[in-house]
Amino acid sequence: MSFQISALFIVLAMSNLMNALALPKPQGGEDKSIKLPPLFDDGVLGGITNKFYEEVPGVKYTVKEWEPDYYPAACISESQSNNKCPVSDMKVYDVTYDDCPQPWTMCRCNSAVVSSERLFEFFARVPVKARVEIRHMFAWPNQKGLAAYAFGPDIGLTNPLQTGDGKQDMNAIIHETGHVLDQGASDSPEMLDAISKDTCVLRPYSQVSRGENVGNVMVMTYFKMINRGEYDRVHDEKGMSCLQNQLDFMEKRYAERMTPGGSCPPRLHENSEKKHVPGGVLTKRDLELLQRDHPEDWTRHEDHGMYPQGHTDDHPNHF
Ligand SMILES: [Zn+2]
Repeated sequence: MSFQISALFIVLAMSNLMNALALPKPQGGEDKSIKLPPLFDDGVLGGITNKFYEEVPGVKYTVKEWEPDYYPAACISESQSNNKCPVSDMKVYDVTYDDCPQPWTMCRCNSAVVSSERLFEFFARVPVKARVEIRHMFAWPNQKGLAAYAFGPDIGLTNPLQTGDGKQDMNAIIHETGHVLDQGASDSPEMLDAISKDTCVLRPYSQVSRGENVGNVMVMTYFKMINRGEYDRVHDEKGMSCLQNQLDFMEKRYAERMTPGGSCPPRLHENSEKKHVPGGVLTKRDLELLQRDHPEDWTRHEDHGMYPQGHTDDHPNHF
């Protein structure tokens, strides 16, 4: 094959890849929004979650950066989806937490919003029994209103994990953990039954879909597991019993996994394939392999509406 034809083929393959990686359109048919009034406004969760970071001691960890030109396949495909980052601008780290022998491989674009240290420190506060269900962590540059996303077992962060007043905010990372751990919970008969018995959802963003509802309630499940006394106080003072059935469903399903401490269960996912990309330039074979990197049934949750406009300055700690 001549050089020109190869180059053309790469362009065509790239075009196909971009189509394959294009974000899924909302599924037609079933309406998964929730028609219950919200208890809190969207800014409130930032008010409570900025306490979480201090309350949960981070598991200690060691970091080993990968040698240049090697990347996990999932990092390559995500970097190219929506052109988040040139491959050559990514750094890859194996982060080994003291509570688990196997490292997590994380990829960070050099111009990402969140620093590598914050990425590692926040992930250190995700309970190990939930952490083992997460495969890769990504940190990307700002993506036009996108706070974060989960795709199958992978989580991408596009926000700084802090409120406008500079406090640490675990809302996004626990919410995305909720998406990874969802695995059918949000559409389960038990959850639908819980919603039907309740008279509110946690916040306006919960109305968007059942999946977002699980991500949001997961933050309260984590809250309860890390500080039961404070949770009970907030629960009673703020009238959270209007979503009691949802809270109970989530606690029953996730209490163990959202409790910090304990030993490391087996990881649910192997790292994606380690690939050699000299100079960060993708070849035709790279592109072909990327197209079959992930199962078709993985769900992509993109959190565009997670924070209200100007939430960080307008909503001080409500609790
Ligand atoms: Zn979400």
